[in-house]
Amino acid sequence: MLLNLTDVLTSEGKSRTEDAEIALTVFESRMGSFPITEKTPLRLELENAGAGRARLKGHAVITQRMNCDRCLKETPVTIVLDFEREVYSPEITDAAVSDDTDGGVMEGYQLNVEALVYNELLMNQPERVLCRPDCRGICKKCGRDLNEGECGCDTFVPDPRMAVLKDIFNASKEV
Ligand SMILES: [Zn+2]
Ligand SMILES: [Zn+2]
Repeated sequence: MLLNLTDVLTSEGKSRTEDAEIALTVFESRMGSFPITEKTPLRLELENAGAGRARLKGHAVITQRMNCDRCLKETPVTIVLDFEREVYSPEITDAAVSDDTDGGVMEGYQLNVEALVYNELLMNQPERVLCRPDCRGICKKCGRDLNEGECGCDTFVPDPRMAVLKDIFNASKEV
C-alpha cells in the first residue's frame, strides 16, 4: 500500500493519524520464510518536521509462524513494532550525499507501507525461538520429542572427575 504524504511533507505544522492495512502475508529473509498469521493495521502518526521532512511514529503487532530452535515444533512468535523515524521528500533525498536516507520506503511523495513494515520486522526478528521457555528439545539418539516424555535412551556421558568424587564420598561414608 502506498500512502500519500504530500501534505505532511509540505505543510508546516500539519499532522495526521492513519491506520494502514498491512498486505504482507509472509516475512522472507535469509533466515527463512515465515507466514504471517495475525497482524493489526499499522497505526501511523505523521507530523511535518520542516520543509520536505516528516516525522513518523509507527505501531503494529504482527505474529509470525516460526519453528522452535530446540524441538522444531511450529511456534507463533508475536513481534511488537514500535518505531519512530523521519522520511523526506524526493527533493531532499536527491540532494543528500548518501542515498540511503530512507531505506527505500519512499516512492516520490508516497510512503511504501509494505517496505516500511518489512524493514522494521527485519530489525526486530527474535534471536531465538522457543515453543516454551523450558522446551527440552528432541533426543539426539532417537529423535523423540522429550517434551512428550523420556525415551529411555542412554545419553549419560560419564565424567571421570565425578567418578573420583563419588569414590571419595563413598570411602568417607564407610569410615
Ligand atoms: Zn520446543
Ligand atoms: Zn531417545
